[in-house]
Amino acid sequence: GCGICANKCMFKAIKIIGLADELKDEMVNQYGENSFRLYRLPVPKKGMITGILGPNGIGKTTAINILSGIVVPNLGNYDNPPTKEEVLAHYKGTDIYPYLSDVYAGKIKVAMKPQYVDKLPKVTKGVVRDLLSKTQERMSLEEAVETFGLEQVIDRDLTKLSGGELQRVAMAATCMKDADIYFFDEPTSYLDIYQRVKMARIIKSLAGEDKYVVVIEHDLAILDYLADNVNLVYGSEGAYGVFTLGRQVRTAINVYLQGYLPEENIRFRERPIEFAVSAPSGEWDTPTLIDFEDVSKDFGEFKLDVNSGAVKIGESVGVVGPNATGKTTFVKMLAGEIKPDKGCVNGIMRISYKPQYISQDYDGTVQDYLCAINYDQVTSGFFDTQVIGPLAIKFLMDKQMKNLSGGELQRVAIAGCLAKDADIYLLDEPSAYLDSNQRMEAAKCISGMMEKTGRSALIVDHDIYFIDMVSDSLMVFGGEPGHHGIAEGPYRMREGMNKFLKSVDITFRRDADTHRPRINKEGSNLDRTQKSVGEYYYAE
Ligand code: ADP
Ligand code: ADP
Ligand code: MG
Repeated sequence: GCGICANKCMFKAIKIIGLADELKDEMVNQYGENSFRLYRLPVPKKGMITGILGPNGIGKTTAINILSGIVVPNLGNYDNPPTKEEVLAHYKGTDIYPYLSDVYAGKIKVAMKPQYVDKLPKVTKGVVRDLLSKTQERMSLEEAVETFGLEQVIDRDLTKLSGGELQRVAMAATCMKDADIYFFDEPTSYLDIYQRVKMARIIKSLAGEDKYVVVIEHDLAILDYLADNVNLVYGSEGAYGVFTLGRQVRTAINVYLQGYLPEENIRFRERPIEFAVSAPSGEWDTPTLIDFEDVSKDFGEFKLDVNSGAVKIGESVGVVGPNATGKTTFVKMLAGEIKPDKGCVNGIMRISYKPQYISQDYDGTVQDYLCAINYDQVTSGFFDTQVIGPLAIKFLMDKQMKNLSGGELQRVAIAGCLAKDADIYLLDEPSAYLDSNQRMEAAKCISGMMEKTGRSALIVDHDIYFIDMVSDSLMVFGGEPGHHGIAEGPYRMREGMNKFLKSVDITFRRDADTHRPRINKEGSNLDRTQKSVGEYYYAE
C-alpha cells in the first residue's frame, strides 16, 4: 500500500507518506476509519465562478456539500465530530472562515443543482410546470421556459423526459431560485454543445449579479469558457482528495493538461496532453469499408435524411450535432437495429456497437462480462496494454456489473465494444459520465486501437476536446431537432468543424502555450474575424 490509501494508487509510496504528514493538519473530513479523506477546501468568491476540476471519486461533491452547509466537516474526528462552533474556531483566521461563518449564521442562501439528474423523477413526482411553478423567485415560469428552451416539455411528466431535458429542468429549477450561492454539479451532462454554451452563458449571468457560483464540470472547453478560477483536485479515487489553491482558469487547465503541479511537486500524468493545431492534411486513401446512399428514415414526427457518404478502412469518424437530430438513429441503422425506409447501406461488415444508454442488468462480474465477449482478446497482453490499463479496468474486474457507477460502467462498455472482433466500432456518446482525464484516456485508447488494428470507428460525442482527439474525419448532423435531421459527411476535419461550428455559431482560438482550443467570446474581435473568413476551429 502507499501509506495513505488501501487502493493501488498512482503515487510512489514514499511521497505519499510524506504527503500524509504534510497535510495532516489540513484534513477537512474523513467519513470513517479507512474511508475517504478530504484535504483543504476551495474558497468561493462573490461575483466569481469557481470551477472544480479533478477525477471522479475524489471529494468534489463532498466539498460542495460542506460549502453548502449540508455536511459539517468533522476535521478527521469521525468518532467525535466537532460542532459548527468548533469548526469555525478551527478555521478562524483562514480564507474560508468568513464564508463558512456566514453559512452557519444562515446568512447565505444556497441553491444546488445535483449531479445525477436521472434521479429527479424518483424524488419529485408530477409535471414540469408544477415543479417549476414553486420556485419563481429570480425568474418567472415564462422566463425560465424561454431561457432553458422548455416549451415542448412544460406539460410533460418528469418520467417522460430524456437526460438532456431533465438537465435543463434541473438547471431551470436552480437558477429560478433567489440564492446567494449557486452550486452546479456537472451542469452539462446530456446536453449538446449548443446547449452547453448556452448553459455556460446563463451561469455567467449569475456571477454578473454578484452571486457566489461554484461549478464542477468535466468538459474542458466549457469549463474554460465558464469559470474565472479553478481549483484542481488530485488524489486517489475513493481514498483521498486534495484541493489545490485556486488558479486563473487558463492556467489551471494548462497545468491540468501538462499533468504536473509545480508547487506540490506532483506528477499526475506521465505525458502532457497535446492538440493538433492544424487540421490533418491529405485524403484518407484506404479502400472504402461502407458507403451509404441517400438513406432516410421516417418515424412520423421525426424524419432523418442522410446524404451520401463513405467510411474508409482504418478511419475514425467523429459524429457531431445537436440533440434529437438523428445521430443515434443513424448509428442504429449501421448496426442493423433499424431498417432505413429509403436508400441503403452497402458493405459487408462485422459490427461492434456501444449504445448511448448502457444496460446494467448483466448477472456476473466485469471479468465474466468481458471474457464472454471475446476471451482470447480480453486475456491478451495487447488488450491489457491498449485497453484494460488506459481505461483503469483492472481493479474493477471482480466487481459485479450491477454495482458499477456510471463512469465505471461506461469504461467497461467501451472495453467490451473494443474487445469484439469487428470491422467497424460504433460508439454512441462514450464520454458520458467520464471525468476529463478518463475522457482523454478513452479517446487515446479508441484511436490507438483503430490505428494498431486498422479497423474503422464511428464515434458520436458532444465534448469537443474528445472529438478532436478521437476523429480523423467528421459527420455533421443538423436540421430541426425533434422534427427533421439532416446528416452530411464524413468531411475532412477542417471542413467538418467549420460546418458544425458555423451551425452552432461558436468559434475557437488557440492557447498560446498548449495549443488547446478555447471558445471565443461572442462578438469579440477574433470571433468576428474568424466568422468572416469562415475559419471556426483551425485558425492560428
Ligand atoms: P466526487 O464528487 O469527486 O466524485 P465524492 O465527494 O462524491 O467524489 O466522493 C468521494 C468519496 O467519498 C467516494 O469514495 C465516496 O464513495 C465517499 N463518500 C461520499 N459520501 C460518503 C458518505 N456519506 N459516507 C462514506 N463515504 C462517502
Ligand atoms: P440524437 O441521437 O441526435 O439525439 P435520436 O436519433 O436519438 O437523436 O432521435 C432523433 C429523434 O427521433 C428524436 O426526436 C426522437 O424522439 C425520435 N425517435 C427516435 N427513435 C424513435 C422511434 N423508434 N420512434 C419514433 N421516434 C423516434
Ligand atoms: Mg443520441
